Amino acid sequence: MDDLYRDYILEHYRRPHNFGVLDDATTSHEGSNPLCGDRITMQLGIRDGKVAEVAFTGRGCAISQASASLLTDEVKGMSVEAAAAYRADELLDLLGIDISPARLKCAMLSLETLDAALADLDASASPAAVAAEEPA
Ligand code: ZN
Repeated sequence: MDDLYRDYILEHYRRPHNFGVLDDATTSHEGSNPLCGDRITMQLGIRDGKVAEVAFTGRGCAISQASASLLTDEVKGMSVEAAAAYRADELLDLLGIDISPARLKCAMLSLETLDAALADLDASASPAAVAAEEPA
């Protein structure tokens, strides 16, 4: 294990927050980072214009999974607009470690997946049934 990982990154990796599947997700998206083999499926339950519920499943390196854990904690309770406006540098601050260019894709996968899920929300007015990937 790379010693640049801080303990709390590993803690989020081992016991990720918001890990699981929503029964009634409004929108969902599966993202992957082929460079590293990371996968994240993010589900959002939108109510009254807010991210009322958020859950993810996935597998991959510690940075990708810790990033999803931290990001889902952040956006829970946010308005859809605020969640959609969440920036990459805010997520990097949250991670609090120096991310090499090679690992940036790992760190940003959760945010890209969130953005894609929110974009799907705009595209379809009706909450379509979404298939969630089972945790590995
Ligand atoms: Zn990775």
